[in-house]
Amino acid sequence: MSNFVRVRFAPSPTGYLHIGGLRTALYNYLYAKKQGGVFILRIEDTDRNRYVASAEQYITDSLKWAGIEPDEGVGYGGDYGPYRQSERKELYQQYVQQLLDEDKAYYAFDTPVELDAMRERLKAEGNSNQQYDAHSRNSMKNSLTLTEEESKNWIESGNPYVVRFKMPKNEEVSFQDVVRGTVTFNTNQLDDKILLKADSMPTYHMANIVDDHLMKISHVIRGEEWLSSTPLHVMLYRAFAWQPPVFVHLPLILKPNGKGKLSKRDGEQHGFPVFPLKWFNEDAQVEQPGFKEIGFLPEAFNNMLAFLGWNPGTEQEVFSKGDLTEQFSLERIQKAGARFDWDKAKWYNQQYLHQMNARELLSEIKDQFPTLVKEASDESIMSAIDLVKERMTFSTDFAQQATYLFKKPEQYDEKNVRKRYKAQNVEHFTQLIQQFEGLDDWQSPNIEQCLKAYLEANELGFGAVLPGFRLLLSGTMSGPSIFDIAAFIGKEATLERMKNGMEYFQTLIS
Ligand code: GLU
Repeated sequence: MSNFVRVRFAPSPTGYLHIGGLRTALYNYLYAKKQGGVFILRIEDTDRNRYVASAEQYITDSLKWAGIEPDEGVGYGGDYGPYRQSERKELYQQYVQQLLDEDKAYYAFDTPVELDAMRERLKAEGNSNQQYDAHSRNSMKNSLTLTEEESKNWIESGNPYVVRFKMPKNEEVSFQDVVRGTVTFNTNQLDDKILLKADSMPTYHMANIVDDHLMKISHVIRGEEWLSSTPLHVMLYRAFAWQPPVFVHLPLILKPNGKGKLSKRDGEQHGFPVFPLKWFNEDAQVEQPGFKEIGFLPEAFNNMLAFLGWNPGTEQEVFSKGDLTEQFSLERIQKAGARFDWDKAKWYNQQYLHQMNARELLSEIKDQFPTLVKEASDESIMSAIDLVKERMTFSTDFAQQATYLFKKPEQYDEKNVRKRYKAQNVEHFTQLIQQFEGLDDWQSPNIEQCLKAYLEANELGFGAVLPGFRLLLSGTMSGPSIFDIAAFIGKEATLERMKNGMEYFQTLIS
């Protein structure tokens, strides 16, 4: 095998792609980019019972959104296609035939009832494993126990059959995994796995190793759940006398409490997404948002995902895609499961959002909130972004943080109005309106100066008017500097909001 790095992401289109799947894609992508290699997308769709037609599109859309685009594969072309396994059916049959010819595989004709009976018998005999293997295959209905003539007749008369791998008996075999070190197994633990199914489709194992070989895959980087299949894969490589790829099994992504694998249900229960893009929840019959729709920036999403199972060994946490590509190494992938932390995920997005300037966010905000900003100029939208950006975790938070900058409050935090807008201070607001009317240069520092001068002259503390002023202008107690808000909405709107608000507040406090 050459040293050239060729890696693949090989999802099965059986449903929505979980973020664990996307992390596998990301690690493959990063490794390929770092090594100047090739990242391939192969669709493993040989399990026709679990096939979901829309899943392939969901996979490619997710990769596109995250910017983890393949160099080669389904939808990208390349010299090793087709990259969709259902289009490679004949090819697998040819390799299955090779194993049959070399007596490394055999036809099996057992019915489900016969297989059940075998398990029952082995159990009754006190065997610890009740599998189809070197110890049991000779008492089953297959091309090893039937004559050649009988087997031929069975097949030719259209009866269902499968092809099984003839797993060697009692051999100690080892392979290297970059994350886990040497993994050793005894072939007695393994059964005679089916390679070709009754529908003449190969099983995952067969198709997977044939394709990895033919597509010259150098490193198999995949989830931990495939570790238990690797001994069989190693035995298949051996049967073909092919050099196996380097194996890299990634740790599981765990639930926030660290107990068990992160599942779709965790997302529903805790209210965070576990899918990159929106998806249709069959159980609840509703469409649920993914990371994209929640407002994640692809770079933040990738950064968060990269850290679920890998770290650079330094304190640095914020990594652009370029930084990740430079720093990524298989050696720093951890063995222990990585706990998903929703607060941390949001923190990543915040970091990226805060680094973006208003101009970079402008078109997204305009797209998301066309009605809100319809009458505002770009300049004014950008100033609004600058005012509230620090308080946003997602670009979708803009409306919640900035609506009062574009229109007068429709609702007020009445609890706080009652608490902070005191009857004895009402007169001060009337006075302030007069002071503001006389202020010509309506800028934030001048407004602040004007208000402070009034407070000083009347020996008042900030608490007497500031909270009330904020509530009058914005309806809420939180937000950026109230003087910046007043400057943004302008003198006329400030005075109008004060007057109208005061009338309404009176009804609340009397
Ligand atoms: N088709 C398998 C999956 O759905 C691929 C496993 C592998 O990468 O070998 O994850």
